[in-house]
Amino acid sequence: MKPPNYYAGLTLDRGSMLRRDAALMEALLARPTTRLVPVWRTRNLFAAANEPAARTLEAPALAGVEGLRVYLGSEDGVAYFAFDLSRMEEAEAQAVAGGTFADLRSVNPSLDRRDGGLLAYARGLVHWHNRHGFCGVCGAATTTSAGGHVRVCTSESCKAEHFPRTDPAVIMLVTHGDRCLLARSARWPTIPMHSTLAGFVEPGESLEDAVAREVKEEVGVDVVNVRYHSSQPWPFPASIMLGFTAEARGTDITLDDEEIVSAGWFDRGFLRREHHPDEFRMPRIDSIARRLIEDWIDGQ
Ligand SMILES: [Zn+2]
Repeated sequence: MKPPNYYAGLTLDRGSMLRRDAALMEALLARPTTRLVPVWRTRNLFAAANEPAARTLEAPALAGVEGLRVYLGSEDGVAYFAFDLSRMEEAEAQAVAGGTFADLRSVNPSLDRRDGGLLAYARGLVHWHNRHGFCGVCGAATTTSAGGHVRVCTSESCKAEHFPRTDPAVIMLVTHGDRCLLARSARWPTIPMHSTLAGFVEPGESLEDAVAREVKEEVGVDVVNVRYHSSQPWPFPASIMLGFTAEARGTDITLDDEEIVSAGWFDRGFLRREHHPDEFRMPRIDSIARRLIEDWIDGQ
């Protein structure tokens, strides 16, 4: 059996019932075994730039250092907190943390899968905090609660609670007979990376509706038999990718030039062959897009 999608399957116990116990959160932060998972802006901490090993820090040793702590959960008796150093300049943050901050995606897929999931989780929560310092209802400042999993408006007349956001995006492999549809995104116009189509789910739309709409908008193809495949946390910055397969009614393509550079139909023989990276590339090995394509090639 294949492992779950990268960043998924985190075995940490998130302890959602424990988070509201503020005294327990304080006690955990004072425990010598408790580890901090530092985040600086959009980056995670690694031992060194060329060494893809996640670096966590002993919590009590950094008790005097300012920065939000967000409870992530516990595993094997060890509690983990995300630790936000974003308000410091990079050099200061690196001096405090004793490592190098790098984009998680630049380090994968050589990183251990469990570390990848933990760092992605920490990154996603810290990003949410840094974008929700003010109440979306009344504009007053918000403060953290529930171990950092809720932000509460400080206005006495409002007190609105805000919860971490995960934006659903659908990603789909469209097939027609023994070929699948892959496209090059306008976001990477110079890289010949051919991937599945994808897009955000809109309010008032089912996931199946979103799949059909996105395919129609991007390549002008009608699809049927939309089927769920698997999902992948994608906190870059705040998505979950919901993977689907769908069957095309026809093969005529009409491109949305703003989003797609080119699109075409590819058979398994072509996709199994080695190609020069300047001519044809598959999506990243740690992406659900790659998983969707490989499972189709393997007949799953
Ligand atoms: Zn408010």
